[in-house]
Amino acid sequence: MLGAGTMGAGIAQVAAQAGFETLVYDVKQEFVDTGMGRVKTFLQGSRDRGKLSAEQEKDILDRFRTSTHLEDTKGSALVIEAAPEKLDLKRDIFKQLDAICGPETLLATNTSSFNVTAIAASTVHQERVLGLHFFNPPPLMALVEVIQGDRTSAATIEKATALMKAMGKTPARAKDTPGFIVNRIARPFYNEGLRVLGDGDASVETIDRIMKEAGNFRMGPFELMDLIGNDINFAATESLYRSFFEDPRFRPSPIQQRMVAGGNLGRKTGRGFYSYDKK
Ligand code: NAD
Repeated sequence: MLGAGTMGAGIAQVAAQAGFETLVYDVKQEFVDTGMGRVKTFLQGSRDRGKLSAEQEKDILDRFRTSTHLEDTKGSALVIEAAPEKLDLKRDIFKQLDAICGPETLLATNTSSFNVTAIAASTVHQERVLGLHFFNPPPLMALVEVIQGDRTSAATIEKATALMKAMGKTPARAKDTPGFIVNRIARPFYNEGLRVLGDGDASVETIDRIMKEAGNFRMGPFELMDLIGNDINFAATESLYRSFFEDPRFRPSPIQQRMVAGGNLGRKTGRGFYSYDKK
């Protein structure tokens, strides 16, 4: 697992819980430790609720190894990248992975908005590069979009689909189009909420409450943006907007841009549309 952030820690937990030996990599040990801390807290919660025994918890934690050296990915069956949503960064990571890992290793990106084909283009063995788009929080969300780039082989898709099933997930094939299926359809959910707020027509709390109580959504758009991270959500909107040649349906909001600039990223920084205390 590359990146031990919001998604990486959760995806690593899914893999380890399903019985896979799991390596967690991040650029600094402190980021690895924070991610592993999140996994431990989650498992502890499951144990407190009687869903996991102490022995099972120990077995899961024993399946983890951590690293800050990319070379340690060598020999893996599958590498999943969940680094920040920056195309140049992802292309650079895949170029390095392609040189480190033998052609039998599957290389997957968890990108929300970039073309898998554009990321794969930095590699020689493009046939083993694909998209595996998990949803937040990965331990609780069953869906994984499986994306075939222009040069991804059918064998890669088959193997990855089998691995996702072995991890207890529900894989769904999606084409390599901007935002795939879910993020493209979800974009107006965030954007229109931000527009209603910007026009002064309703508050954050009202919009969220109505969508939950009357619309039967699990979370309102602002709660969800805070969960996702405003930086990640804004980057995905910007990327879709560009990919659809500035289609106004996908235009990003200055409100969210200001929040990102001010470091109000949501739960991960303790403040976003809402404030979060330590509990
Ligand atoms: P995050 O900011 O929480 O975590 C990113 C992690 O990547 C950080 O720990 C960071 O230190 C690490 N990182 C930085 N440079 C790296 C490198 N060179 N190699 C490996 N790791 C590096 O971000 P996130 O929310 O976990 O998002 C990660 C990816 O998952 C993005 O592509 C995002 O679009 C996608 N995604 C996010 C969500 C969500 O709800 N947050 C949902 C689906 C997909």
